[in-house]
Amino acid sequence: MLINNLGYPRIGNNRELKKASEDFWQGKITDNELELVGKEIRKNNWFLQKSLGVDLIPSNDFSFYDHVLDMTLCLGAIPDRYLCLKKYLKNEPNEFYFALARGYQKEGFDIPAMEMTKWFDTNYHYIVPEFSKSQHFVFNSKKPVNEFVEAKAFGITTKPVLIGPVSYLMLGKSRQKDTDSLDLIADLLPVYFDIIHELASAGASWIQLDEPFLALDLSQKAKDYFKTVYKDIRNKFPGTKILVATYFEGLRDNETLAAELPVDAIHLDLVRSPRQLERFMKIVPSDMMLSLGIIDGRNIWKNDYRTSLELIKSAHKVIGNERIMIAPSCSLIHSPVDLEPEKNGPLLDELLQWMAFSRQKIEEARDLKELAMNGSGRESEKLLSDNQESLLSRKKSSLIHNEIVKERLSFIGDIEKNSRSDFHQRKLKQRKKINLPLFPSTTIGSFPQTAEVRGWRSKLRRGEITKDFYIELVRSEIEKAIKWQEEIGLDVLVHGEFERNDMVEYFGELLQGFAFTKNGWIQSYGSRYVKPPIIYGDIQRNVPMTVDWIKYAQSLTDKPVKGMLTGPVTILQWSFVRDDQPISETCFQIALAVRDEVQDLETAGIKIIQIDEPALREGLPLRKSEWKEYLDWAVKAFKLASTGVHDETQIHTHMCYSEFNDIIEHIAALDADVITIECSRSQMELLDAFAVFNYPNDIGPGVYDIHSPRIPGEPEISHLLEKASEVIPAGQLWVNPDCGLKTRGWSETREAITNMVVAARQMRMGVLVK
Ligand code: GLN
Ligand code: ZN
Repeated sequence: MLINNLGYPRIGNNRELKKASEDFWQGKITDNELELVGKEIRKNNWFLQKSLGVDLIPSNDFSFYDHVLDMTLCLGAIPDRYLCLKKYLKNEPNEFYFALARGYQKEGFDIPAMEMTKWFDTNYHYIVPEFSKSQHFVFNSKKPVNEFVEAKAFGITTKPVLIGPVSYLMLGKSRQKDTDSLDLIADLLPVYFDIIHELASAGASWIQLDEPFLALDLSQKAKDYFKTVYKDIRNKFPGTKILVATYFEGLRDNETLAAELPVDAIHLDLVRSPRQLERFMKIVPSDMMLSLGIIDGRNIWKNDYRTSLELIKSAHKVIGNERIMIAPSCSLIHSPVDLEPEKNGPLLDELLQWMAFSRQKIEEARDLKELAMNGSGRESEKLLSDNQESLLSRKKSSLIHNEIVKERLSFIGDIEKNSRSDFHQRKLKQRKKINLPLFPSTTIGSFPQTAEVRGWRSKLRRGEITKDFYIELVRSEIEKAIKWQEEIGLDVLVHGEFERNDMVEYFGELLQGFAFTKNGWIQSYGSRYVKPPIIYGDIQRNVPMTVDWIKYAQSLTDKPVKGMLTGPVTILQWSFVRDDQPISETCFQIALAVRDEVQDLETAGIKIIQIDEPALREGLPLRKSEWKEYLDWAVKAFKLASTGVHDETQIHTHMCYSEFNDIIEHIAALDADVITIECSRSQMELLDAFAVFNYPNDIGPGVYDIHSPRIPGEPEISHLLEKASEVIPAGQLWVNPDCGLKTRGWSETREAITNMVVAARQMRMGVLVK
């Protein structure tokens, strides 16, 4: 029996990677210094896993920004528009690497970043590979080999991890509309051969090829490619052990396909789909090993050893111990690093004993191996009984159950009946109440969170300033923001969200049923990490959460200020959720808390309220057959949150990085008066869905890509607006950036938003002239 790990967090125990990469971007550290930080993190990870008894320790799971981008560089799939820059930066490979991820706007260059999107149903974002028709691949960067050699020098033989060739192509996007990236396989495969060849020559005996798409709905063509590709790899490398990793879903209709792949091991996600094991064992060939992903890589609760041992035992009966690997369900980059530092953090001891982070998950794998191999000794018995005791204490804890919440939830049907008039009636009433021009301009909510503002919060936490003084400081920032927005002529203002550490954490901290970690960071994209709250119990709002701030902002201006809330689905998606009740139930609890807040904002005189749901789409199940069920409860939750107010109150929602084509009906069913969406990186492509569907409500397609430090000029924004107005009628079109501005600096923000407002005015004049 082996312990297998698919990937370990690469951000470092104390977010060393974030600090180093940001310092590098600001020119504060050299290339060499950056490399050293990477080296140190990798070394620590390898030695830790070694000391915990992991047999298959991953390498090439490290990345300075994103492992898909690493793969793209490795395969030489650099889009043409960067080739000139590549030449220019030929002696600064890291500079070039980050330019692909973040865009490059200096020394006469002005190149936008590559597109970025969510990694399956996680909150991790990857850089989308981009293929041209005449795409050609070459073995360009030796990162996978270098890291293998690096570990070997420490005496550790790792298992290099690569994105499998079929999934790599499926992750990418073809520039030409009607070409299928999969057709590039013939050109791609030889490069994979080169990589595998070099890895094998360097001494790698196992290689992990991640093929998450194997657990998704596949076309016949993709299925055929899986067959031929792995046959070719096998023929070429009869002596190298290939492990194909699937995760985030069960294999389902692809079970036979997977079992027939001529590979040495398949990894199954048994957390998402425990039942597939039984079926898979019936068809698994006698020379294939199974990696049992039984430890949840996506959540923070302790493993239930009894259930896991059942699974291991059932596998043991059919395939024997020698062919079993014990593993976390997926790469641990989706889990926080280590629970140990939390022991002197804000988590209650009672909660702490219910949890496991990455390091503890590896320890769990070790325990499970121990229990499965020699389960009868006294030590083993204690391992098992300790584990079962902490699970039981969670089940019975009074921290979890709140009768008032459960009671209110039983009246949801009645609450749903009181809805608002239809959109057209509402629009008329809102027009009367809120005076707005054509193409109203607004922003998504947050303004730059400067080090100074964040510093106020840490000072408050450390008791160095009083709460009253903190409020005064934040208010002064709000005042500046309101003044500035009035000056440049925005139509709907925001207060700037300066008081928020994070759009979910802020609300979680004010709600009952949520807990917070000190250091539970997870990479979201690049150097952006999030620290998801932990939902452990029934959720209740005890006090208004935003009303004072918004009311204050509104008191400073005659222009409307948007109340700004995070929606129930997003709060749910971006938290670690309890696994002891359906997540829809947890979501409805949050929705009722948000509903109360929306009503309080209206009562306080706020005319426009935005409920952000950027995570609505990422919550979609990976298999289409399950979409409807999810969308139905997600829409219900949004409506529960948003419909407790009068017709005159304008409800906005915002979604970033969403593709709407296949869920547009449900987006319409949310029935928000205005929706602002991401669009600029995809050149307004996303709008097609809204146009074809004839989306009835107002839309603000983002015209400024805030995920890149690049500042768009007025003509560029005007061009995007023109494009948008070809598909969205004038009376429905809003003008806004594609997300909040908190990660940007003030100088870029000022310039870009000013350009945006000018572009909106230009549009208005254009329509008047016509
Ligand atoms: N209102 C939030 C902000 O502006 C929305 C962020 C998001 O969509 N991710 O920061
Ligand atoms: Zn957004």
